[in-house]
Amino acid sequence: MKDTVGITALVPPELIYACGKRPLDVNNVVPGSSSSPASKLCAWTAVWRDMILSGELDIDSLVVVAGGDCHNALVDGQKAELSGKPTHYFFYPFDGDTDYFRSQLEKLSLFLGGVQDDGIITRITDLKSRGKALDEQRVNDRARASDVFSALISFSDLAGDLDAFERTLDSIPEADVEYTSRVALIGVPPIYPDFHEVAEGFGLHIVYDELPYEFIRLGGCDLDSLARNYTKYSFAGPIETRVWFIQDELRQRRVDGVIHYTQFACHHTLEDEIFRQHLDYPILTVQGDLPRPSSEQLKLRLEAFAEMLEVMP
Ligand code: SF4
Repeated sequence: MKDTVGITALVPPELIYACGKRPLDVNNVVPGSSSSPASKLCAWTAVWRDMILSGELDIDSLVVVAGGDCHNALVDGQKAELSGKPTHYFFYPFDGDTDYFRSQLEKLSLFLGGVQDDGIITRITDLKSRGKALDEQRVNDRARASDVFSALISFSDLAGDLDAFERTLDSIPEADVEYTSRVALIGVPPIYPDFHEVAEGFGLHIVYDELPYEFIRLGGCDLDSLARNYTKYSFAGPIETRVWFIQDELRQRRVDGVIHYTQFACHHTLEDEIFRQHLDYPILTVQGDLPRPSSEQLKLRLEAFAEMLEVMP
């Protein structure tokens, strides 16, 4: 059995698999949890921190993304290190410095015991191409957003098992999607496990999931190309670049409106006014806290947003 490496945010899974390990994105277990952490700011990091400390999350080592898209993870990652698991701190460069990021990948590779099988990267590249095809399928109204989201969000660790993950991709059905409006979901992913189904129930077809799209967009076949591509991870760079990128995606995907999901006590919440200044679309901002099914209040707001988009010229 391969060693399991917990990752707290996006860490190139290509390199973890190439080092003979199995990545586990610790965030992916959070929406299914019903816990209420006693000490918390953001529930995402607090839930996985407690699960690591209690041993509920079975990992052999931990890679904390300490510089990049989340500072709560840095603190909760250090607390999780008290579990005794070997822990490594990984940093994205804010200025996109490829040489710096290549050195980060080299340090990560050393922590993981070195590259054993770089041939596996080609297989991951092929799976990411399938992810892109699936994404396009929902943009063309040929797949349900809830099915596509559940596949794309798993590209951060490819479910820790490439064969099983490929079978999951195979099982996603084609569908003739009917809806009243096309929307983009920007920000961190909702902590509510049923968010996409609830939106679908109100006729909102989510044709862009900002963060999961990064998981399939970025890749590479060796350390140099991984360094070049992953330095473009939009969540870890300047907001201006991210806004340009989002504007382009919204245009190509012909959206009618934007939902900005924010998480309680997450610094990304402060970006809301920047998006409102620069994205020329109706925007609904919603906020979540603990991992639970969508609240009645959220449902009412989604329903009202859907009705507003429907009557807009
Ligand atoms: S929601 Fe924000 S604070 Fe929480 S884990 Fe994600 S980036 Fe970090």
